[in-house]
Amino acid sequence: MKRILITGGAGFLGSHLCERLLAEGHDILCLDNFFTGSKDNIRHLLPHPRFELIRHDIINPIYLEIDEIYNLACPASPVHYQFNPIKTIKTSVMGAINTLGLAKRVKAKILQASTSEVYGDPEVHPQPEAYWGRVNPIGIRSCYDEGKRAAECLMMDYHRQNQVNVKIVRIFNTYGPRMAVNDGRVVSNFIVQALTHQDITVYGDGSQTRSFCYVDDMIDGIIRMMATPDDFLGPVNIGNPREFTIIELAERLIRMTGSRAKIIFRPLPQDDPVQRKPDIRLARETLGWQPKIPLEEGIEKTIAYFRAVIAGKGRNSHDA
Ligand code: NAD
Ligand code: UDP
Repeated sequence: MKRILITGGAGFLGSHLCERLLAEGHDILCLDNFFTGSKDNIRHLLPHPRFELIRHDIINPIYLEIDEIYNLACPASPVHYQFNPIKTIKTSVMGAINTLGLAKRVKAKILQASTSEVYGDPEVHPQPEAYWGRVNPIGIRSCYDEGKRAAECLMMDYHRQNQVNVKIVRIFNTYGPRMAVNDGRVVSNFIVQALTHQDITVYGDGSQTRSFCYVDDMIDGIIRMMATPDDFLGPVNIGNPREFTIIELAERLIRMTGSRAKIIFRPLPQDDPVQRKPDIRLARETLGWQPKIPLEEGIEKTIAYFRAVIAGKGRNSHDA
């Protein structure tokens, strides 16, 4: 049994990670400032004797005794990370410094939740880890992209300079229950719009592509990465390589929900990547991991979740 700190633990991915690691028998310290996360995501875990909730902003140092850290604290949706971009980059950079400082002091292993956004608007497709990316350093996505790139840099420098045991995963678009209704990311937006028969907002002409991974597969990959030998630091891509255009996704979701919603087109946000698909050969070789849950199955579960939320049965009614 380990004492594990999960920063951003009340968020979408963090809450699933808390649940899984708690079920594996560990002591969980869930840290969050509730910017995009919610107590509703972890309310069902609060009575558990091995679960602790800490309200804290990771831009400030924290002193805890722990064995492992999963550093997930950072808004992930473009709408949310662009709301206060200075805070976003502070969260990534100060958050990495503070969690790495903690890891160094107590000799804990630390895993950084990085992102496919480090590849920017990529000219290499699919994206392997060896690709250095094409990121605009001064655009509206830079607070997130450059913040995450700086966090990767800090992980590697603390490892080289202070021998901190670090791991980096590059997470590609992930979806599932407990995404916030107002999250702004494409899967949650389209499902909520379809279920409420509102217009489906496709940005640009919808020809841009993304590859969507179901949350359970993602959590499995992240936990496997933490368990790799100390000399494997990553970065390693984790994501589902099945690629869709955004218009295909919209049409599929309308069909699956039986919605009367119509597709409308809205301007494409600045620097929106044209294509994205992970090369997951490294994850297959080093983690023995590949996604198992097909889009249709994951989307059904996500639709069921949002149906319950919209019907007012609470964010976690699917857990009941
Ligand atoms: P999320 O917004 O649901 O979760 C982020 C959590 O971090 C929230 O609970 C939020 O309140 C918390 N947080 C934000 N700023 C904080 C701060 N300063 N101090 C403490 N807590 C703070 O997003 P998510 O999808 O669960 O993403 C989790 C992590 O995974 C993020 O680091 C994100 O960049 C990364 N990631 C996610 C995806 C994805 O598709 N879900 C893709 C790439 C990377
Ligand atoms: N998108 C869209 N309509 C929406 C939300 C997003 O067409 O209501 C598009 C967005 O422009 C991008 C893709 O869907 O091309 C994925 O967007 P998301 O915000 O989920 O994450 P990203 O991969 O861009 O970080």
